[in-house]
Amino acid sequence: MSSSQIEIDTSGQFPELRRGVRQLCDRFPGAYWRRVDADRAYPVEFVQAMTAAGFLAALIPESYGGGGASMAEASVILEEVNRSGGNGAVCHAQMYIMGALLRHGSLAQRERWLPPIAAGQLRLQAFGVTEPTAGSDTSRIQTRAEREGDEYVITGQKIWTSRAQHSDLLLLLARTAAAETVSKRTDGLSLFLVDLRAAGDRELTIRPLETMINHHTTEMFFDGLRVPAANRIGEEGQGFRYILDGMNAERILISAESIGDGGWFIERSVEYANQRIVFDRPIGQNQGVQFPIAQAYANLRAADLMRWQAARLFDSDRSCGAEANMAKMLAADAAWEAANVCLQTYGGFGFAREYDVERKFREAKLYQIAPVSNHLALSYLAQHVLGLPRSY
Ligand SMILES: Cc1cc2nc3c(=O)[nH]c(=O)nc-3n(C[C@H](O)[C@H](O)[C@H](O)COP(=O)(O)OP(=O)(O)OC[C@H]3O[C@@H](n4cnc5c(N)ncnc54)[C@H](O)[C@@H]3O)c2cc1C
Repeated sequence: MSSSQIEIDTSGQFPELRRGVRQLCDRFPGAYWRRVDADRAYPVEFVQAMTAAGFLAALIPESYGGGGASMAEASVILEEVNRSGGNGAVCHAQMYIMGALLRHGSLAQRERWLPPIAAGQLRLQAFGVTEPTAGSDTSRIQTRAEREGDEYVITGQKIWTSRAQHSDLLLLLARTAAAETVSKRTDGLSLFLVDLRAAGDRELTIRPLETMINHHTTEMFFDGLRVPAANRIGEEGQGFRYILDGMNAERILISAESIGDGGWFIERSVEYANQRIVFDRPIGQNQGVQFPIAQAYANLRAADLMRWQAARLFDSDRSCGAEANMAKMLAADAAWEAANVCLQTYGGFGFAREYDVERKFREAKLYQIAPVSNHLALSYLAQHVLGLPRSY
């Protein structure tokens, strides 16, 4: 069996969709991703191609010009991008950020924003939640939005706001009531759709952050940025709930990216282990080489089952917090295991840029930490599923 036939998902679901994404990705081979990685450039051509094909609007209902896809289908799109050797992180947020607008935005907001996003005329790629001092504890964010007439005035700082320089719109979480004045710390947070094109240089500064991966992530400094009150999503003070609501979608989609990464690493490992001859035999003939690959494959298949279960529950409107967290955590761990095995299998050549292993290795690590750390996923399970005391 050739390595390109290695199957992770054996259910055979969505074959045409998979084929379509693969065909698009074939136009963006490893050399393309290596070049943008080396230049720390945004893969504009790839993102435009994904937009033109309608993949980034998959989750927008057809009535707004989107694809009306299920979560399972949307997850296949990102899985195939990462499976091809690409990096879905450059555009994945466009697929799930708009969930907050879709579910909690007013009819007027949906009608105003969703059609141009679906048509690729407006980019909604940036999501500003994390702050340097709050970290994983979102309830501690300090960026303020103060009401003045029919506007809010935003002051504060965000960190790790990815793609802010490649997006027209930003979904921003800010405090509208001081933490001391609300009964729960997660109250008093509100969600805004910020039109970055209208922001002046004095009110908004965006600074790129250099990182070990090509992720186009930034720090944002807000100094009296005015946002129309009409751009607040849902009720004032309820923003944290709206964000939580979208997190299951985010976790399921990210788990699919990790499954794609894992599949790519395993394919590459098998291919290399079969063809690299040392001591007059393929290195894959050694159990010390083949067992870790087989183990990584088994773990990836198991994680993938959880991804499908989470997607199925999501698509049937059933509660899926536990499954979405487990899918994201298990898939990120399985991808990281496969990445490590692949680098080991390649030996010294794994460090050479031309094989893409070192790039994918760096990229795969991210999902154990972001968008939510695996520790926090475990805390969720311990507290909400197992009934153990809250640990933080
Ligand atoms: C490349 C990149 C892109 C990102 N893009 C975005 C984005 O677009 N928008 C956005 O809002 N954010 C973004 N993030 C931020 C990301 O969501 C956070 O990095 C992540 O949630 C972890 O927060 P932190 O980095 O502040 O870690 P911290 O909260 O400081 O945690 C540090 C370590 O301590 C552990 N820890 C903390 N508290 C506990 C606890 N109670 N129990 C057990 N362990 C704990 C964590 O698991 C972690 O291992 C991005 C981050 C990166 C690196």
